[in-house]
Amino acid sequence: MAENLNGVLHELGFRYDPNDLYQQTINAVLHAAELLELPHHLQLILAQPKNEIMVHFPVRMDDNTYRLFKGYRVQHNNILGPYKGGMRYHQTVNLDDIKSLSVLMTMKCSLMRLPLGGAKGGVQVDPRRHSSDELMRLTRRFTTALGTNIGPNHDIPAPDMGTNAQTMAWMADTYMNFAEPNARTTGQAVVTGKPPEFGGCLGRDKATGQGLVYVLDEILPELGLSLKGLTMSLIGYGNVGSWTARLLAERGAILRAVMDHTGAIREDAGINASALATYVEKTGGVAGYPQATPIGIDDCYSTPVDLFIPAALEQMVDENRARMINCKVLAEGANAPTTPAAERILLERGVAVLPAILCNAGGVTVSYFEWKQNRQAETWDAETVDAQLKKHVFAAAQRVKLAAHRFECDMRTAAYVAALENVGRVYRLRGIFP
Ligand code: NAD
Repeated sequence: MAENLNGVLHELGFRYDPNDLYQQTINAVLHAAELLELPHHLQLILAQPKNEIMVHFPVRMDDNTYRLFKGYRVQHNNILGPYKGGMRYHQTVNLDDIKSLSVLMTMKCSLMRLPLGGAKGGVQVDPRRHSSDELMRLTRRFTTALGTNIGPNHDIPAPDMGTNAQTMAWMADTYMNFAEPNARTTGQAVVTGKPPEFGGCLGRDKATGQGLVYVLDEILPELGLSLKGLTMSLIGYGNVGSWTARLLAERGAILRAVMDHTGAIREDAGINASALATYVEKTGGVAGYPQATPIGIDDCYSTPVDLFIPAALEQMVDENRARMINCKVLAEGANAPTTPAAERILLERGVAVLPAILCNAGGVTVSYFEWKQNRQAETWDAETVDAQLKKHVFAAAQRVKLAAHRFECDMRTAAYVAALENVGRVYRLRGIFP
C-alpha cells in the first residue's frame, strides 16, 4: 500500500498529510490504479470529485428561534450512471470526509457492477439533539436547498449515519412537491431507503448487515473459519452494527463485546443481539445493558474474538488500536474505519482485513433494487430481494478474490482493482467528451 503522497495528488497540488481521510482514501485507490496501469488522465479525473456542493440554510427550532445549518453533497463520478450515496447527519460532517465517502461510493457501485455513480452528502448536525419536527424542517430545507442537484435520473440519496427511512420519506415528499409536474407522483425514486409503504424495498433496513453476512459466507471458509460458534465484537450498534450482529447471531455466531457512543459492554458467554437491539432502540445506546458487564473502550478493542466489526465512524481503528485488536478477521461494516497505518499493522499481525466497499455494499445494492422497482412500478418480495442481493455479493467477492490472486495484493487493493477495471473499461468505451 502507498505510504507517501501519490504522484497524481502531488500534481494536483495536495500537501501530504497522513491523517487526512481524503488523502488516505484516494491514495489507496490510486495505488490500485497504478497496479492496473489505469491511464494517467483517468487517475487525475478520479482523484477529485466532479461536483462539490455546499449549502447553508436556516431552520426554525421548536422554541421559534432560527439556526443556520451547513449541508453538503459531493458528486464524485457518474461514468457508470446517476450519482448514488447516503446522506449523513452528524456533528462532525465536513467536506473532506464527505469527499472521501463519495469516492468509496464510486468504487462500491462499480465493484458491485451497479449502473450507478458515487456521491455522498450530509448536514453538520447532531440529530440526537433535535426533535422529530425540527429534523423534518431541517430535511425539507436541505432538500429544497439542493434543488435540482438531486433527482431520480441524476443523483439519488439514501440513509447513512444519523438518517433513516423517515428522513428519506421527508426528502422524497419535499422533492415531489417541487418536482416538474410528471415527477410529482413518480418522483419517489429520488431517494432510496424509504419506508416500504412509500416505495421502499423490503429488506433495505437489514441490507447492509445481510450483505456483510454473505461476504463472510464467501470468505471465511478459505480462512478455515465458519459462522457457527464464531466469536465477534462490534464498534457501533446502529443500523449496520445491530443488523449485522443479529443476522450473524441467527447463524450461530457469539457476540462478546460491543461499544457505541454511550459506552462499552462485554459478556464472554454471549450477548443476546436482538435483546440488545431492543434495549438500544429504547435507551439510545448500549450503556447500562443489564445482561453484560460495563468495560472501558480499550477493553472492548482488545477483547479476544475471531471477528471484529467496526460499524461506526471513520478512522476509529488507528495504529494504537490495531495493536490492541485481538482477532483473526476484521470486516469493515463502516466506511473507512481503518487508517492505512493501522491496516499495515493488522496485516503484519496476520489479520484478514475485509474492505468496506465489499463488506457494506449490501446497502447500496438493495438501494439499487429499490430505485429499479420504483422506476418499473414493481414490488419485489423479500425472498427475491435476498436472492438478488446474495447473487450480487457473491459475484463481487469472487472479483475481489480473483484480483487479490492476480495482483498478489491485499483485499482492499484487490477490491479497488476490481472496481477500477470496470470504470476504466467504461471510460475507454465512452471516451472523454468532446
Ligand atoms: P447509525 O447512525 O445507525 O449508527 C451509528 C453507530 O455508531 C451508533 O451505534 C453510534 O452509537 C455509533 N457511534 C457514533 N459515534 C461513535 C463513537 N465516537 N464511538 C463509538 N461509537 C460511535 O449509522 P449506520 O447507518 O449504522 O452507519 C454506520 C457506518 O456504516 C457508517 O460508516 C456508514 O457510512 C456505514 N454504512 C451505512 C450503511 C447503511 O445502510 N446504513 C451502508 C453502508 C455503509
